[in-house]
Amino acid sequence: MIKRSFFSLNQPRLVYDLPEPDLKEPELIPVPASLSVLIAEAIDSTKQALIKKGDAVKKGEKLKLYDDSTAYTLSPVAGTIKLFDTYSDDFGNIATFILIKPDQTQTSGDDTIKLDTVEDIGFADQFLRKLPGAPPFEMLANGKTKINTIVITCSDTDLLSTTSQFVSLKYTDEVKEGARILKRLTKVPRFCITIPENLETQMSFDSIQILKTSNIYPSTLPALVMKDHLNITLPAGQMPEDMGICFIRAEALVSLARVYKTKEAVFDKILTLIGKEGTRHRVRATIGTPLSKIFSRFNIHVNEQDRIIIGGPMKGFATFTPHHPVLADMDTVIIQDRDIIPQLSDYPCVNCGKCIRICPANIPVNLLVRYLEADQYEEAADRFDLESCIECGLCAYVCTAHIPLYQYIRLGKHELLTLRAEA
Ligand code: SF4
Ligand code: SF4
Repeated sequence: MIKRSFFSLNQPRLVYDLPEPDLKEPELIPVPASLSVLIAEAIDSTKQALIKKGDAVKKGEKLKLYDDSTAYTLSPVAGTIKLFDTYSDDFGNIATFILIKPDQTQTSGDDTIKLDTVEDIGFADQFLRKLPGAPPFEMLANGKTKINTIVITCSDTDLLSTTSQFVSLKYTDEVKEGARILKRLTKVPRFCITIPENLETQMSFDSIQILKTSNIYPSTLPALVMKDHLNITLPAGQMPEDMGICFIRAEALVSLARVYKTKEAVFDKILTLIGKEGTRHRVRATIGTPLSKIFSRFNIHVNEQDRIIIGGPMKGFATFTPHHPVLADMDTVIIQDRDIIPQLSDYPCVNCGKCIRICPANIPVNLLVRYLEADQYEEAADRFDLESCIECGLCAYVCTAHIPLYQYIRLGKHELLTLRAEA
């Protein structure tokens, strides 16, 4: 297997955005008439499901499909299950969505699950995985992964997104409190926080090491934070946790602080919404809210063939339904007008070499993509370093022939994992 350094002389010059200086309260989206939540497990028609249409659920109630299920979700509202059915993500992974109709007559008290919060990572894994910010409790609690450093991300990881910076600045005290709780839960000795070097802030953190990240994309991606600030090179095919490093959004710590204070799960997700003219909106919406409700709040009309991107412009993925729900890890949503969507092409590579020059992992992308186009995933990994890709998307951004290189690479990695699992 080829191993390459992340260093490259050809650094891209795309600059991360900063949050709005006034840090006003986000625009609150009212709880809609129905919400959908996802469980990362497929429906098995041979088993007796624990949930059914018509079941009443409380706010914060844990929902899972079967007795032996380890995947679960939490109901973000008190209400009634209207439907549950199969959901397929952009890679064809099968999950289950549950449609819940909120009960408008219930307002507080008995309709909300009260948590008997204990400072134990097992408790957090059992009840708090689905909080806004998607805390990685499953990984922290599994006992197989030995984490020695937790990196809190105040720096956003994609262009245009400013959610993590906004949350860190606006709710600094709760980030600190969440970090204190997480320290007690995990006993991890070292905590760091990424902060953009050009962000003007007086934030200070006791016993948390500040890592000042460059404002040039893709310096905030985990592999580069590890290399530039922790002096750890992420080997090909490995994840940060394999090297003892856990990344966690600042928003997940805010959620943790609120849960331990109120003894109730929380579901308000902060988003950066970028409209068709590039206008940025700061949004607070309940997890499970259909994106269409957010668009209508800002009078954004989604026409046929407009593109809805979940995530930033470099690493995001397109969804073809405006009813896609707000998720715990959804930081950014972008609407692109159909008239300005960059056209992909099926033109062949013209060997201009731009993708190779810009790749921070020094991958011969033009050669790699030929193998991916031919579905030769093992060869792509063994000969052209597929697994060293840090998924920055820069190659696709510069490609002269408009080949969807990033999409080929993500799909290639997914297929490689599937092949190996089957083998
Ligand atoms: S996405 Fe493209 S440019 Fe970025 S690391 Fe992977 S191959 Fe290189
Ligand atoms: S940037 Fe596109 S056209 Fe140029 S060498 Fe890479 S794949 Fe080929």
